Amino acid sequence: MVDEAACRKSKMTQPLIIANWKMNPPDSKEAFDLASEIKKGIEGLEVEVVLCPPFVYIPQLLPAKTLLIGAQDCSWEQEGPFTGEISPQMLKNLGCTHVILGHSERRQLGETLEMVNKKAKAALAVGLLPVVCIGEEIEKEMNIVSRDIKNLILAYEPSWAISTSGGRAVSPEDMGNVAALMKRFIPSDTPILYGGSVDSNNVKSFLGPDLAQGVLVGAASLNAKEFIQLVKIAAMQ
Ligand code: PEP
Repeated sequence: MVDEAACRKSKMTQPLIIANWKMNPPDSKEAFDLASEIKKGIEGLEVEVVLCPPFVYIPQLLPAKTLLIGAQDCSWEQEGPFTGEISPQMLKNLGCTHVILGHSERRQLGETLEMVNKKAKAALAVGLLPVVCIGEEIEKEMNIVSRDIKNLILAYEPSWAISTSGGRAVSPEDMGNVAALMKRFIPSDTPILYGGSVDSNNVKSFLGPDLAQGVLVGAASLNAKEFIQLVKIAAMQ
């Protein structure tokens, strides 16, 4: 059962910026310093920023009050004999607000759309907001991942646009077309983000009522100065 009442749906009156740190940085001091610098740099800006560090850094970053903290994945189970898994309930208990699901790097490891759908329902059941990544086969992916779910945040992030795979960002026109297509499957107030090679130079071009209401940022979120600049530009939208 999806406990929709427990979910704090992002009202999207402000742009939503999600930082996907992936398996970085290599030690906890660097993670703490990066989060502290970002926190200081974005204080007072009209924007919602969620840092998604590796699981092991989450507890030490949670006191960073001006930032929300999310995870990069979760199980579809809440507890039990599932070696190596982390449950949505555990993330919620720590104080996480969001969880990225179905990232293309996880899908390459064998995660299916059905699994992403189950994970999103399990996250919503405990009041975590799922940020579900959608890539190339938009209609097929939307049909499966959004089945029986209302409160999603979606991120259009084709794998070929991701910077570390040598990608290049999609055009704002493509983003607009994809957003229109996605809206055929979801309630009209569902936030749609764009992800893939976003930086401070191009972030502005993706944001708008008919484009994206926020961005998912990988590589650029690991450089505090660049990320702060990106957030400042997004906040001016
Ligand atoms: C990502 O992989 O989620 C991502 C947004 O990466 P990048 O910004 O580095 O393209």
